[in-house]
Amino acid sequence: MSMSKFDEILNRIYICSLPDSEDLERVLSSQDAEELESLFNFADAVRKKFCGDGIFLRGIIEFSNFCAKECFYCGLNKNNHKLNRYRMTDEELLKSVEYLVYSNIKTIVLQSGEEPAGDALWLADIIRRIKSNSDLAVTLCVGERSLDDYKLWREAGADRYLLKIETTDEALYSSMHPKMKLARRLDCLDILRQLGYQVGSGNMIGLPGQSLKSIARDIIFFKQGNFDMIGIGPFIPHQDTPFSGQPGGQAALTLKALALTRIVTRNAHLPATTALGSLGQDYRRQGLKCGANVLMPNFTPQPYRKLYQIYPGKKCIDEPVGVCNFCMDGMAGDIGRFIDYSKGDSLKFGKVNLNV
Ligand code: SAM
Repeated sequence: MSMSKFDEILNRIYICSLPDSEDLERVLSSQDAEELESLFNFADAVRKKFCGDGIFLRGIIEFSNFCAKECFYCGLNKNNHKLNRYRMTDEELLKSVEYLVYSNIKTIVLQSGEEPAGDALWLADIIRRIKSNSDLAVTLCVGERSLDDYKLWREAGADRYLLKIETTDEALYSSMHPKMKLARRLDCLDILRQLGYQVGSGNMIGLPGQSLKSIARDIIFFKQGNFDMIGIGPFIPHQDTPFSGQPGGQAALTLKALALTRIVTRNAHLPATTALGSLGQDYRRQGLKCGANVLMPNFTPQPYRKLYQIYPGKKCIDEPVGVCNFCMDGMAGDIGRFIDYSKGDSLKFGKVNLNV
């Protein structure tokens, strides 16, 4: 049977060294059920070939919701005075780490709002204590910081860093990030890579003013950046932000972007993001079936979990710590996959330099 035009486009996107923006836009704009089935099956086959059937777990602890930034989409932005702010104590944080280890998870993600002057030495000490008491891979997600801070944390034992670019469209980026520069974010990603971190980035889908061309450029950027991890989630409007009342990102477009990112990056770790699971319906299963190979169970204890309100309707916000494993095992089993309880280091051969 001869290949359809759409399959030809998918194949071209897969084999070329840098995908063509028009090809990506054509796929992103498709509303045709048969075409979308081809796309998702293609992405699933690429995932199987380059990543296998295992789903890696990253246990996330949101240790502080203080933030000095003013991102228009985020509920943590410093101008949201309705939000009660918290910072977990060392004891609370390390207790949560124990739960995570007890749950057999091998990667911890320490996330917080962005505080450029936040206590770097404190975080270095926490990293050291985690590394000396466990065999966890430590991922940080605390935003833009100085070279010295990134270096300090790397030397303390941090293995990975997540810094989403949110959008590669400079004008769009500036329109929603007061006093921030896209170039600075790009510099941070370079520095993190030079320091030997496994580096993750990502974007949001459905940001106000975002075009398909802009999403296509993000996907090209993900390919060029050869990232170890890429998080793609829908924008979900928060009532206490400047983007209150804006339409949110659609699951369908998010899944298309995720599938294309799998096809172009081949073996990057791609989570079925919590935001994808928080759209009324839980779309993480679909995400896992069109390219994703990672889930991120939440280990932030109550009452803090409820206060880490980056967007409303966040998945599992009322649940106690420790119930995630059953759910994740169930989700994997439902789709004929399994949870891989290993660390799940980067699959980008030869890029991992742990001896800084
Ligand atoms: N501030 C740190 C940073 O920028 O890397 C980490 C914390 S930030 C809250 C984590 C991620 O939340 C962001 O990268 C962004 O993609 C996501 N996020 C924030 N607000 C969101 C919203 N309204 N809808 C969906 N995702 C959102």
